[in-house]
Amino acid sequence: MSPRPAVPTSPASTASPLLPGSTLGVMGGGQLGRMFVHAAQAMGYFTVVLDPDPDSPAGRVSHHHVHADYEDGDGLARLSRLADAVTTEFENVPAGALASLAGDVPVAPAADAVAIAQDRIREKAHFVRCSAEGGVGPAPYAVIETEDQLAAVGDELLPGILKTARLGYDGKGQQTVHTRAELAAAWAASGRVACVLEKRLPLAMECSVIVARGRDGQTVHFPPQRNLHRGGILAVTEVHEQNMPAAQAQRAVSATKSIAEGLDYVGVLCVEFFVLEDGSLVVNEMAPRPHNSGHYTLDACEQSQFELQVRTLAGLPLVVPRQHSPAIMLNILGDLWFVQGDGAQVEPPWDRVLALPGTHLHLYGKVEARRGRKMGHLNITGATVDQVREVAAQAASLLGLADSSAC
Ligand code: ADP
Ligand code: MG
Repeated sequence: MSPRPAVPTSPASTASPLLPGSTLGVMGGGQLGRMFVHAAQAMGYFTVVLDPDPDSPAGRVSHHHVHADYEDGDGLARLSRLADAVTTEFENVPAGALASLAGDVPVAPAADAVAIAQDRIREKAHFVRCSAEGGVGPAPYAVIETEDQLAAVGDELLPGILKTARLGYDGKGQQTVHTRAELAAAWAASGRVACVLEKRLPLAMECSVIVARGRDGQTVHFPPQRNLHRGGILAVTEVHEQNMPAAQAQRAVSATKSIAEGLDYVGVLCVEFFVLEDGSLVVNEMAPRPHNSGHYTLDACEQSQFELQVRTLAGLPLVVPRQHSPAIMLNILGDLWFVQGDGAQVEPPWDRVLALPGTHLHLYGKVEARRGRKMGHLNITGATVDQVREVAAQAASLLGLADSSAC
């Protein structure tokens, strides 16, 4: 009998789940990677993190840490040898590196989806496509890559926000412009890189939706989060049923699902929305990974966004991650270490904060506090929304935070 023809055994085509005991890899060693590592280890997986920084928050808690740049061939080869599947924890990981890893090991989300989320021009085009049949579209915008496109910008987009197409986060790479002259100056100041000019909209509030989508297309979602930003950085997330009208929440969830589906996405995806004064929704941007606005899920839901990231990567079943408690998340920035104003660092009064009922402190193990740096977050859960709000206000006051309610 002739031998059977060899069946290709590329791990990328493996359909059976990776069970605990396997090794899950993550590109990037920041706080999102750290919380992914915690979730994976809690479920019995081994972990490997690729990050050039020896002190990276995720690298310091992972079983393996590959110290290498994201495009370093040897580093990527080591990661793919150690890991049975690889995910990412920040969207600016070079899509080319994910694509090359995918030749050796399953990668989720796929490089193509990450590449779209990395580029506001491609991202908005995807949102426009997904909204074609009456869905939720982006703010009016124009692409600016050439002098001709700059000259052709319509006045109706002013005042607007000029955003670099790539590498923006936490409000960086953005400038508000009121006139054509300001627009031209802002684009010149950007180095004439590819940008989008977006009409500045009057926001009634901001919200986000996180979905997890498996290899088989099954999709589950968390309830929409109501978010308050300060200085372009998320400050407070509040999640409970009275957060927003049910029909609005439903529209945000179904728009997020169609955005994920349109990418044939596998993994955890967050989509940010603006809610305008008339109650209409506008899609802002997406993150191909767990999101800061989903950190409350660690303490308020049956599965956290990080556990769902593990499940999607491992090909495990997805279950609806029921929220069992109303929640508020307060972001903790490095500014809190500098309350004295003389430049000296003082540890915030965690002992007093933790004396409050329903407080859950998450610090990311960053070696140095810096102003504007995300150092951790505080989740507050409780039996009722009022209780959660009251404790959040007390915690905010102990920490010297301006606000504790996103509503
Ligand atoms: P980042 O990648 O920095 O999060 P975003 O595009 O989400 O960039 O912008 C950051 C914040 O700036 C938003 O959460 C919102 O508060 C504000 N913002 C951005 N675009 C607009 C807009 N078109 N109109 C009004 N506010 C906006
Ligand atoms: Mg944003």
